[in-house]
Amino acid sequence: MSKKSFVSKHVENLKPSGIRRFFDVAAQMEDVISLGVGEPDFVTPWNFIEQSFHSLEQGYTSYTENAGMIELRKEISTYLNENFQLDYDAAEQVIVTVGASQAIDLALRAVVEPGDEVIVVEPSFVAYVPTVSLAGGTPVTIQADADNEFKLTAEAIEEAVTPRTKAIMLCNPNNPTGTFLTKEELEPIAEVIDKHDLVALSDEIYAELTYDASYTSFPSLAGMKERTILISGFSKAFAMTGWRLGYAAGPSDLIAAMVKIHQYTMMCAPTMAQHAALEAMKNGRPSVRDMFESYKQRRNFIVTSLNEMGLECPNPGGAFYAFPSIKATGLSSAKFAEQLLHEEQVAVVPGDVFGESGEGYIRCSYATSLKQLDKAMDRMKRFVESRTPKTVS
Ligand code: PMP
Repeated sequence: MSKKSFVSKHVENLKPSGIRRFFDVAAQMEDVISLGVGEPDFVTPWNFIEQSFHSLEQGYTSYTENAGMIELRKEISTYLNENFQLDYDAAEQVIVTVGASQAIDLALRAVVEPGDEVIVVEPSFVAYVPTVSLAGGTPVTIQADADNEFKLTAEAIEEAVTPRTKAIMLCNPNNPTGTFLTKEELEPIAEVIDKHDLVALSDEIYAELTYDASYTSFPSLAGMKERTILISGFSKAFAMTGWRLGYAAGPSDLIAAMVKIHQYTMMCAPTMAQHAALEAMKNGRPSVRDMFESYKQRRNFIVTSLNEMGLECPNPGGAFYAFPSIKATGLSSAKFAEQLLHEEQVAVVPGDVFGESGEGYIRCSYATSLKQLDKAMDRMKRFVESRTPKTVS
């Protein structure tokens, strides 16, 4: 008798993450330098950890309010105001979540109805398309133009909009390309979003990691606050991936809808992590600044090295990823990554896992020490030279 599968068709049809599949192979190998995973190499600053310990010592081991500790929501609201000139009411317009990941999931589930289309700009963070589908929506992908440094344009949105479009996922600075959009570049995007009455889900988790120009938060643009859910968290700039803490801010009705889902599915974000985050908000600035300076130095080093070895790489304005073209080698992204891993033990992510327009590119995370980066670049250079002998003088 054949055994029927109890897995829902919906879930069965989701593709497993291309990043994970690749890193399971890398994990079995020795002496691998990983430029693969998108997480800081820094340990969480000690004062954040210490405050979390203290909270446990003091017996803070129960649930918090569903939306998160009010002291933390107040600090987040102040932080958004001081850094991005945003004005959110801590009690009504901020929710603390289990990573930015849960904020994305909640935001989508709060706005999407069956059959609604949600625009996702590729190359994109690998979670967007599957979370749109899991929320019952239809992901509609736009391919950002490599010749325009993968910058999203209002025209590209205009072409993708249909009467069923409900929302758009924005990510600035972008994972995986590191592309950064300035205020002037965001303004026409805001206009088109307004014209078509869309909700913007603005993932700003890398907002602190912008290197060359000041950051404009999407909801700070004229008319956008009423139609944007701002998504962010502590994983990246605060080096807190394992604490699983993020947040969203937005219009009261949308945040209330997210809290409703959250209270039934998660109850609240981890209490001890909320205490660490409170310290991060109150006294985290110097540590964030130091890590920022390291990332900036590493970015300059990796971008120069990649270009020197013949892998064309525009200077990424933000996040901690370089996204060079590997077209000069004649290899596909998958072959490049696979052969580089096996021959030189350097792990990068093939660009096609982030969407169609990522083919011909690789993602190199520079959230690793300069020493390791230096070694990785030497190995990669040797690999590239072996594939492109004509370019070697
Ligand atoms: N958004 C983007 C763009 C990311 O790159 C990531 C992590 N790779 C996340 C969200 C998820 O972050 P968190 O750890 O806070 O869930």
